Amino acid sequence: MLRLTELKLPLDHPPAALRAAILQRLGIADDELLGVSIFKRSYDARKKHALLLVYAVDVEVRNEAALLKKFRNDSHLAPTPDMRYHVVGHAPRDLEERPIVVGFGPCGIFAALVLAQMGFRPIVLERGKAVRERTQDTWGLWRKKVLNPESNVQFGEGGAGTFSDGKLYSQVKDPKHYGRKVLSEFVKAGAPEEILYVSKPHIGTFRLVGMVETMRREIEALGGEIRFQQHVTDLVLEDGAAGRRITGVMLANGETLASRHVVLALGHSARDTFSMLHARGVHMEAKPFSIGFRIEHPQSLIDRARLGPNAGNPLLGAADYKLVHHATNGRSVYSFCMCPGGTVVAATSEPNCVVTNGMSQYSRNERNANAGIVVGITPADFPGDDPLAGIALQRKLEAHAFALGGGDYSAPGQLVGDFLAGRPSAALGSVEPSYQPGVRLTDLATALPDYAIAAIREALPAFDRQIKGFAMQDAVLTGVETRTSSPLRVTRGGDLQSLNVRGLFPAGEGAGYAGGILSAGIDGIRAAEAVARDYLGQAPEA
Ligand code: FAD
Repeated sequence: MLRLTELKLPLDHPPAALRAAILQRLGIADDELLGVSIFKRSYDARKKHALLLVYAVDVEVRNEAALLKKFRNDSHLAPTPDMRYHVVGHAPRDLEERPIVVGFGPCGIFAALVLAQMGFRPIVLERGKAVRERTQDTWGLWRKKVLNPESNVQFGEGGAGTFSDGKLYSQVKDPKHYGRKVLSEFVKAGAPEEILYVSKPHIGTFRLVGMVETMRREIEALGGEIRFQQHVTDLVLEDGAAGRRITGVMLANGETLASRHVVLALGHSARDTFSMLHARGVHMEAKPFSIGFRIEHPQSLIDRARLGPNAGNPLLGAADYKLVHHATNGRSVYSFCMCPGGTVVAATSEPNCVVTNGMSQYSRNERNANAGIVVGITPADFPGDDPLAGIALQRKLEAHAFALGGGDYSAPGQLVGDFLAGRPSAALGSVEPSYQPGVRLTDLATALPDYAIAAIREALPAFDRQIKGFAMQDAVLTGVETRTSSPLRVTRGGDLQSLNVRGLFPAGEGAGYAGGILSAGIDGIRAAEAVARDYLGQAPEA
């Protein structure tokens, strides 16, 4: 099989044109091309009036060697790499101990799935509820202003990404093609096949719920066990000649579960668990993250700016954007987790706090586009030097947003024009904000530190030069966006174990090793492999 890349065709090309273009590019006759599959499809929108689809295809041809020789100087034709997933080993038949995975978000799901596929029969402990019950609790906040701190948009089966846009791309280095494994498992669990080949795949909330249930059943069928409403509140540690080692975990219900291999896939919102880890002396350090607001525009404005006359073409879907501005005060402002045709959601897991985020359905056909507009901050900005200082800052901003929003989980909001002019908003304009349970118009100037407000005030007009209308008077800002990534790292070594607790494998977004669904899934696979290697006495991955 050969991979041919950079094959460009007009947006509206007929299906047969792809085969014709391959034949022409390779200079072969029709009967020499035995099979074609699309590996990737993206688009080149630099010329909006002549938008091109760009393909990478895998082709089966009659005489591979001759073609490779003919194209030896062409970097766009090469043997297709082996992207299949190979397990690192299998659990010994007599192994009695079962590894524990704490958390059943994307990282925990893939850690458990791969461990189960290797025969290790993991036990998953998830503090939240199974996804259907969890959905009811999440709606409880959005529709009735009732927060369940153990079952919400952050906590429960599927993790933080369940009620999301389900964007499935990442910029992490992935030389072993683990991302392909994640996407393939998602397809097996019910995701549309196209996620394997479109350049910016997404699933949307509705499908994610069903997929998570299917993956749970798969893990169970392989001998794994998933226990919901099992909140891990402490570690059982043992000091020996080789240093400190985990031997089990304690649960809120008083139960203790023994295991010398524990994957911690907590997500970035498990603040109580981070405090417990810190109190227990597990090595951790503060790390940079970002803070800001959500911005909402009419999706049609973004479509027009990005796709010109092709706006609305079903092959392209609702347009997205990615923006960056380096402000004169040294801060970087960037768009985060952009959700085309989606809604802004209430994403707190703690009482009396307001946090925004975004989600969408697969169709992405809501009227507004939304994205975080966030400012990068570092531990130097945190109120203290300890590893938990970033959490203290998040809490302060989220509690202030709760107060600015009126103290009933409404989000404080402001029109972009008013924010730029420095006056409070009194009435909405043409953009109806989507955040539930509601938006209270106010002045957002005190919602973030002054340097962040200044940087965002500078960035919005700069973004308007890239997307005409971005700084329109009526666009709506809501706040605050504080859970952009983990504010700390539970540091691990080359064997993926905690620096000072053997057998503890911090992984995923909460541990500071992933950002997003795909990279958290990839890190879950890596954690599962590290656990397996330790059981099997194999050297850690180089
Ligand atoms: P999480 O998904 O946070 O899972 C951690 C799990 O651990 C949780 O279920 C939690 O209940 C559990 N847990 C925590 N503490 C304990 C404990 N002590 N005991 C037992 N269980 C515990 N990313 C994208 O790539 N694309 C998107 O479109 C996207 N949209 C998003 C939209 C929203 C609204 C949100 C909130 C996030 C979105 N993200 C998106 C981010 C993405 O969800 C996360 O990056 C990803 O879920 C991280 O995976 P994880 O498994 O590391 O952690």
